[in-house]
Amino acid sequence: MGKSSKDKRDAYYRLAKEQNWRARSAFKLIQIDEQFDLFSYQDPSQCTRVVDLCAAPGSWSQVLSRVLIKGESFGRRAWVDKMKRHEELKRRQDKDSSDLDVPEISTLDISDDTELQPRPNVHIVAIDLQPMAPLAGITTLKADITHPTTAPLLLKALNPDNPSSPEPVDLVISDGAPDVTGLHDLDIYIQAQLLFAALSLAMKVLRPGGKFVAKIFRGRDVDLIYAQLKCVFEKVTVAKPRSSRASSLEAFVVCEGYTGIPLEEDNTIISHSLKQDAKVSEEDEEPQQPKSQVLREDGVLEISFQDSLQHNQPPPQRWIPPFLACGDLSAWDSDATYKLPPGHVSLDPVQPPTAPPYKAALERRRAEGGAYGKTGSKK
Ligand code: SAM
Repeated sequence: MGKSSKDKRDAYYRLAKEQNWRARSAFKLIQIDEQFDLFSYQDPSQCTRVVDLCAAPGSWSQVLSRVLIKGESFGRRAWVDKMKRHEELKRRQDKDSSDLDVPEISTLDISDDTELQPRPNVHIVAIDLQPMAPLAGITTLKADITHPTTAPLLLKALNPDNPSSPEPVDLVISDGAPDVTGLHDLDIYIQAQLLFAALSLAMKVLRPGGKFVAKIFRGRDVDLIYAQLKCVFEKVTVAKPRSSRASSLEAFVVCEGYTGIPLEEDNTIISHSLKQDAKVSEEDEEPQQPKSQVLREDGVLEISFQDSLQHNQPPPQRWIPPFLACGDLSAWDSDATYKLPPGHVSLDPVQPPTAPPYKAALERRRAEGGAYGKTGSKK
């Protein structure tokens, strides 16, 4: 697809280039922030230390840099607009004594003319498998978040002077995505592994009360993941920003109020969550009785348990979180095709990938004479 037709078919792709974002993903983080006040505009001291996982090419890090380091505000502006609309509705309701339904919103103590200042003591660490072009004030690491050596690297980057007792962070965000294969089950599986790797890192660095935001693909068994997240966060919501295509399985888990439970010895959350499930089973249900026991000829005792699904009962470990579409309804629709303004000039991407994984494959193919090779027959 050419740049110009992509500009037409993807308003956020065009806007990202116009507004100097390295990727259209920036709008997803901004729209999630508008809904959840991720960056704590009311008390900026509550959000100064942030880890951005799977960060390349770096548009989420750009948002962090512009809000925390430069003191700009995207979500705050949305909150101010929301409050203004709310006040206007209230005024109309009082004036006409009408039964206009004015939804309650939580009020924030911020006014339109408060100039936000850059926050003191900001520390941002960004990690990706791929190299990322530098951003002022952000420490970037090239590492695999699923690899065990990455945790000590991150702890060191967060506190170079004392990596063994680092100051915790307020927010961990992860936009990790595998190179999509098109095999849905495989893509969803790899995505879930990335999410658990991100969560495992988050649990090593988050402060109690901290927040965790991560991309998720809504596959068949996604409610198991939600249940596991709910074991370690007070509140878990699934958010779908307007800039994320409705047609895509992508959504974001927004987890608030980290409970700070310690990690299991084997560093996994899964065993913890299964223990929780076991607790639920003990309290709420009869312990499972073996359905049958058969002593095989080879001396192995085969025990089979009843499957709770056979009784049309949901297994106890499933939990469905609230789902929230976020981003203003007047925002661009990512699934719509828009007419380009007259004289539109298609801009180049702000930051082309530094070393994309497909580059080596393309070079190899070119060296071999293209898709049809030197023999002229398709490979
Ligand atoms: N949030 C980024 C932004 O705003 O520019 C976009 C992230 S992009 C959708 C997904 C990223 O996940 C890719 O850059 C990819 O290299 C990274 N990624 C995938 N698997 C990873 C892994 N195991 N460790 C670190 N990064 C990984």
